[in-house]
Amino acid sequence: MNNIRNFAIIAHVDHGKSTLADRMLEITGTVSARLMKDQILDSNPIERERGITIKLAPVRMNYLLQDTRYTLNLIDTPGHVDFTYEVNRSLAACEGAILLVDATQGVQAQTLAHYHEAKKLNLTIIPVVNKIDVATADISGSINQMETIFGFRAEEILHVSGKTGQGVTELLQEIINKIPSPQGSSDLPLRALVFNSNFDIHLGVLAWIRLIDGKVKIQDKLQFLNTKGQATAIEIGVFTPKREVVSELRAGEVGYVVTNLRDLSQLQVGDTTTHFPLPVADIKPLPGYQPIKPVVFVSFYPTDGENISVLRDALDKLHLQDSALEYSAEFSPALGNGFRVGLLGLLHADIVQERLEREFNLSLIAAAPSVSYQILTKNNQTFIISKAVDLPDPSAILEIREPIIRLSVFVPETYVGSVIQLCHEHRGNLINMEYLGQLIHLQYHLPLSELIRGFYDRLKSVSQGFATLDYELIGYESSDLVKLDILISSEKIDALSQIIPSSQANDIARDLVERLKNLIPRQQYEITIQAGIGSHILARADVKAFRKDVIAKLSGGDQTRKDKLLKKQKKGKARMKRVGKIDLPQEVFLSILKSNI
Ligand code: GDP
Ligand code: MG
Repeated sequence: MNNIRNFAIIAHVDHGKSTLADRMLEITGTVSARLMKDQILDSNPIERERGITIKLAPVRMNYLLQDTRYTLNLIDTPGHVDFTYEVNRSLAACEGAILLVDATQGVQAQTLAHYHEAKKLNLTIIPVVNKIDVATADISGSINQMETIFGFRAEEILHVSGKTGQGVTELLQEIINKIPSPQGSSDLPLRALVFNSNFDIHLGVLAWIRLIDGKVKIQDKLQFLNTKGQATAIEIGVFTPKREVVSELRAGEVGYVVTNLRDLSQLQVGDTTTHFPLPVADIKPLPGYQPIKPVVFVSFYPTDGENISVLRDALDKLHLQDSALEYSAEFSPALGNGFRVGLLGLLHADIVQERLEREFNLSLIAAAPSVSYQILTKNNQTFIISKAVDLPDPSAILEIREPIIRLSVFVPETYVGSVIQLCHEHRGNLINMEYLGQLIHLQYHLPLSELIRGFYDRLKSVSQGFATLDYELIGYESSDLVKLDILISSEKIDALSQIIPSSQANDIARDLVERLKNLIPRQQYEITIQAGIGSHILARADVKAFRKDVIAKLSGGDQTRKDKLLKKQKKGKARMKRVGKIDLPQEVFLSILKSNI
C-alpha cells in the first residue's frame, strides 16, 4: 500500500486535463504512443465532440522511480457544474489532486470550485501551470494568481505542457513524493466507496470502487450500507484503461466490480459497500453520501406522435446508464404525448436530448426547462411540484419555495458593471466581491429558475465570452411567486401557465400577450388573449377576425397551382392544435415555452 498513489486532475474546462492524462498514460507506458489517440479517456462520442468528460474512467498506471515500482491511479473527474456531486465523490476516492491552471487563461470559476471541493476533503494539492508552450502564455501572471488566491508559494508550482510533455515526468515524481499513500488496512472488514458506476450492455452494472479497508474477491456477496441493497461480485478488475481482471482488490486500491445488478438505479454513487452478511454489526458507512436528485425538468415530445413508444424505450435504456435521469409520462393538449424528464442541469439536458436524437433516431420537441418548487400549504402539507398546473389554489398556499444557487462568476474588470447589472435583473443577491488583479470574483445568491432562463447566454454576451461561472445548489427559499395564466377567448390554456416572480408579473404578462398576438393567425372570428393571476387580468390583446382566402391572390386559372395551395393550407391546419374551442398553431406553444422571460 505504501507504493500506491490515488489522485485526480482538477481544472476549469479546456485547461488541458485530458491532454495531460494522455501524456501520463504515454510516459508510464500504459498506452503505447502508437495506439494513442487524443483524449483517450473521453470514450463517449458526444463527450469527445464537446470536449467534456461526463463518465470518468479511473486508470491504473505503473511507474518506476529509483528502483521502486509505484501504482498510480488517476481518477478523472467531470469538468462541468452539473456533475459536482460526481466530482466530489471521485475526489473522495483520492489522497491528492493536481490543480491545473491554463497559463493563457489564468484562474477561472471552476478552478476555484474544484479547489474548494479538494480542500474540503483534505487532499494534498499539487499546483501546476499548464500550456507553457503557448506563445501567449502568461506564466508569471498565472503564478501570481495562484499565490494570492490559493496561497501557494511560487517555488512549489510546477511548469508543464500537456501537449509537448514538458514537465510531466517531474510532475509524476512530485505525485509520488508529495501525495500520501493510502491509509487503512486489508485486515479490517471491507469498506469501499462506490465513487462512480456504469452500465455495460454485455456485463450489466459496474461499480467503480476505492477500497478503504479490507479485500474483495470474485463471488463475494456485497451489501450497500446506505441503500441497503445487495449484489454479487461477478468479476473484479482494474482499468488500464481497458478492463483487466484481477483475483482480488485490497485496501487502498481502485478498481471495478461487475455486479449481478441489471439496473443502474439499484446502485448509488457515493454508497459504501461491505460484505454480506455484515462482518461486524456496527460497521459505519463512509461519510458524504447523498442521493442524487434532479433539479431541472424538460418535457420531450416526439414530433411524430407515433414515436412515443420509441421515446419510452429510449428513456428506459438511457436510464439504465444514467441513474440521475428520471422521467414520467406526460400529456399536453398542444403537443400530445411526451415525457417529463428530470435532470441535473442544463448541460445534462442537452446531452440527453442529443443522445435521444442521435442514438435513437428521434426527432423531438423540447419544452423550456423548469425547476421544482416546494409548496407549503396552510394545512401544513409540504410537497414538490415541477409544473405550474400542479400549483394548488393560492388561497390554500402558505409558502412557495424555489431552489437557490450560490453563483460564482469570474470576470475581467472591464465587464464587471454589466455583469452586476445582469445578476441584479435576474434577482441576484450580491454576497461577495473580490479583486484578484484584473480579475473580479463575484458571488451571488440567485434563483435557479433565473439561471435556466437564458442567464448563461446573456452572461457570455455581456462579457464578450470572458466571464466564467460555477454554481451549487444551496437550498430552497421562500419567494413571492405567482402562477400566470393565459386565457384565449376566455378559456384557460394550462400548457401556457407558468410560475413567475410577482414583481415581474406585469412586464411578463404584457410581453406574453403581445407575442401571442403576433403568433396566432387571424381566424373567422375575433380572438381575445388575456394574461392574468387568478381572476385578475394584467394584460389583454385582440386578434381581429379575418378570412384567409389563399386563392384570391391568384389571377389566371392555373388549377395545379391552386390545388397545391389548397393542399398546403390543409397541411397547415393539420399542425394546428385544437385547444378547447379554437385551433392554435404548434409554434404558439413552442415559442412561449422557449422564451427568455
Ligand atoms: P480539458 O477540458 O481540461 O480536458 O482540456 P483538453 O485536454 O481537452 O484541452 C483543451 C484544448 O487545449 C485542446 O485543444 C488541447 O489540444 C489544448 N491543450 C491542452 N494542453 C495543452 C498544452 O499544454 N499546450 C497547448 N498548446 N495546448 C494544449
Ligand atoms: Mg477533458
